[in-house]
Amino acid sequence: MNGASLASAPTKPNVMLLLQALDYAAQQHRDQRRKGAEGAPYINHPVRVATVLAEIGGIQDVELLCAAILHDTVEDTDTTPAELVKRFGERVAGIVSEVSDDKSLSKAERKRLQIAHAPHLSAEAKALKLADKVCNVTDIHASPPDGWSRERRIEYLDWASAVIEGLRGANPALEDRFDAVVRDARNALA
Ligand code: NDP
Ligand code: ZN
Repeated sequence: MNGASLASAPTKPNVMLLLQALDYAAQQHRDQRRKGAEGAPYINHPVRVATVLAEIGGIQDVELLCAAILHDTVEDTDTTPAELVKRFGERVAGIVSEVSDDKSLSKAERKRLQIAHAPHLSAEAKALKLADKVCNVTDIHASPPDGWSRERRIEYLDWASAVIEGLRGANPALEDRFDAVVRDARNALA
């Protein structure tokens, strides 16, 4: 265990930390919808990412599951990393920061940096990124963003695959699931 983990070890029971992460993420995303045609509530996505991490990835680390539930709060709401440190500790906040794009950069630069940074992420952030991409590729197949052409969906699959190439070895079960959902999505677009 490193120094940051020790410093931030939550004193709250695991179940309380998880419930507080769900409650906080639901509040922060309360007015947001996913990009698919049915406009699912945004919170469905982080809940699914955490569930995929646990069910497919075999992850039982509650702080990592909390980070999964919170993973889009910094990128897509007014949440700051400092707020996450205060509420959930340094370790949870650190994992969320690792998987958050710098919104001051252009979309193209953010996409490029996700590929470049993938090999250098912590083991926890790699597992979370894998689960996030499994969910987004599943959505690209089953509930694609409104107005996305076939070419744009294929572009997304190519980009997500390039990010995941940099994470190989992190969690074989999640990697196998990613390969399967990409294959299904490509077949449907062929
Ligand atoms: P993104 O590629 O960032 O959109 C995909 C992201 O939206 C996902 O990673 C996911 O992120 C989130 N998301 C929300 N709802 C869904 C859903 N139903 N299915 C899948 N993902 C969902 O798109 P942007 O609009 O931000 O554009 C970014 C890039 O797209 C640009 O860099 C540009 O190069 C390219 N582009 C391509 C075009 C083309 O026609 N080829 C046209 C315009 C742009 P999360 O989990 O973080 O919420
Ligand atoms: Zn996400």
